[in-house]
Amino acid sequence: MTPTTCPFCAVGCGLVLDVAAKRVVAVTPDPVHPVSRGQLCAKGWNAGPFLASPERLRQPLLRRNGRLQPAAWSTALAAAAEALAAARAEGGADAVGVIASARATNEDAFAAMKFARAVLGTNNVDHCARVCHAPSVAGLRRTLGSGAMTNPIADLDEADCLFVVGADVTENHTIIGGRILAAHERGIPLVVVDPRRTRLARAADLHVQLRLGTDIALVNGMLHAIFAHGWEDGAYLAARCENVAALQASVADWTPDAAARVTGVTAATIVAAARLYATSRRGWLAYGLGVTQHVSGTETVIALSNLALVTGNVGVIGGGVNPLRGQNNVQGACDMGALPDVYSGYQAVADENARRRFETAWGVALPTAPGRTSLAMQHAAHDGELKALVVIGQDPAVTDPGGRFVARVLERLDCLIVAELFLTETAKLADIVLPAASFAEKDGTFTSTERRVQRVRRALAPPGEARADWQILDALAARLGRPLGFRDAAGIFAEMAALTPSYAGMSYARLEARGGLCWPCPTPTHPGTPRLHVEGCVRGRGRLIPVVHTPPAELPDADYPLQLTTFRLHHQYGSGSMTRRAPLLERENPRGLVWMHASDAARRRIATGAAVRVRSRRGEVTTRAVVSDDVPPGVVAMPYHFAEASPNLVTNDALDPIARMPELKVCAVAVEAC
Ligand code: SF4
Repeated sequence: MTPTTCPFCAVGCGLVLDVAAKRVVAVTPDPVHPVSRGQLCAKGWNAGPFLASPERLRQPLLRRNGRLQPAAWSTALAAAAEALAAARAEGGADAVGVIASARATNEDAFAAMKFARAVLGTNNVDHCARVCHAPSVAGLRRTLGSGAMTNPIADLDEADCLFVVGADVTENHTIIGGRILAAHERGIPLVVVDPRRTRLARAADLHVQLRLGTDIALVNGMLHAIFAHGWEDGAYLAARCENVAALQASVADWTPDAAARVTGVTAATIVAAARLYATSRRGWLAYGLGVTQHVSGTETVIALSNLALVTGNVGVIGGGVNPLRGQNNVQGACDMGALPDVYSGYQAVADENARRRFETAWGVALPTAPGRTSLAMQHAAHDGELKALVVIGQDPAVTDPGGRFVARVLERLDCLIVAELFLTETAKLADIVLPAASFAEKDGTFTSTERRVQRVRRALAPPGEARADWQILDALAARLGRPLGFRDAAGIFAEMAALTPSYAGMSYARLEARGGLCWPCPTPTHPGTPRLHVEGCVRGRGRLIPVVHTPPAELPDADYPLQLTTFRLHHQYGSGSMTRRAPLLERENPRGLVWMHASDAARRRIATGAAVRVRSRRGEVTTRAVVSDDVPPGVVAMPYHFAEASPNLVTNDALDPIARMPELKVCAVAVEAC
């Protein structure tokens, strides 16, 4: 029996793997885990089947004569090293890049960023946070000084009001969703802000069903009402915040009536939401991708931070600004510096002191300028400036916007190297595919959405010749003449902790206890920090930053009269490479679908189950309709787990100018029966 951490969402539930005859024969909840407390959602219970899938990659594949064919590790590594060296020789160090994985361990992510910087000599390293919570990192660092969840999940039990924005929590963070519903049943008021009628929205005291991409107008309207009624926490603002007058002036014109005109929510509802949240003693504010995946994602995060600060809800028990991270280790991959502008612990590559620290530890001069984001790497590949790319455990051909464009640019590379569990859509385009070990086949750590660092333990051997990502990178680095110098996962963690102040007090020995430690944990005796900003914000005073409503980059018109939004299904995860190989999960939603309101469906003579075509200016996708009042008139919604019906064939890649996040949550489309 091996206790470990769930490989799916970032709640970080504890599960136990029961192995017999070299197979996981049962997955059970960890009864003493501090977060999941003996529970798992459907995905967690089904964490076993994909491990034994006959489709697992078991040996390297090399493209010969246009086809991927089995190859020895030595041959595949030599080819990969040769291609990376050739790309560097031709285009310089920035002609290569690395996409790390939010599914893999912290140790794998640290190895990826070290491989990019110390071996390839480039800061071109990024991962899928770019298409989920990069605006949280950017926004909360500006306002509070730390771009992570401020309060622990358990604090929702201490709150007097639960305020959930753009997050389908019962489906995507189910154990948290269950706790929210339980708290609500105990009488805690629940406000849900969401264009869709999610399960949580149906249960809420107040569902604020705003138009897509109008969150800033809503929050500014709420702030106007809060100041107008004297609901702000004046003592807190005076003692702990800066820029109060500027913020107050910036929302002076955002009367609830003005906000109502933009959001489509009544002024009375806006005032009611403001009153419920602001007059509660402690408000636990959580948000998801409905906030971040917009051209105004970073500024919407800032708006929510403004709301929490004005009401005195940062640094207090039961409060906080809490981004619900998506993938199991997306928090950790950010913490590990798998980002183009920072090393581990968010130490800027442009900071000479930080750079010197890493140069001294690694014995190599490091590049000084921030690198390209993952989407910028795609455009550089299109322009011929990026020639080779290493992709670890990500499937950008499915998960990134402009699907056909992504596939085209990946094919255009001189060399695409993919380390994966399965032959994903991205791996199918690769020149070299390297078989990777799963969470159950290696040691390491994941960092959950609440900054909780937890052990992942090897319960069985990888299939065939598969290896941990860090081992693959170490072998490739050795071929390039600069080994990473890693012996085992514990050694990587020790090196990372020595270079990362927020993890400095952690070790595998300390993490052995179930439940792990929350960062920052600066010394070996420090108990960890479940709650941030208690003695004042990490940056000093909480910074209030006026932000203005920016409409979505693409609005409906006569040619494309509907708005498409994307969402995630409870029974699937990411691009579906793991969950779609679990029969009990796959049977629930075996293919992509598009949800549409009855009025829009009737106008087009579309019934549930009908084949439909969804078109945008970027492409089209064929799928099936679900007629439902989960979405309002004028809005259609598609989950993005299904390669055969991917909304990313039509989504917009317009970017948030700060975090470079594409606007995956809204674009204009036409839908017709086919
Ligand atoms: Fe796994 Fe998330 Fe489900 Fe917990 S809530 S079992 S972490 S998928």
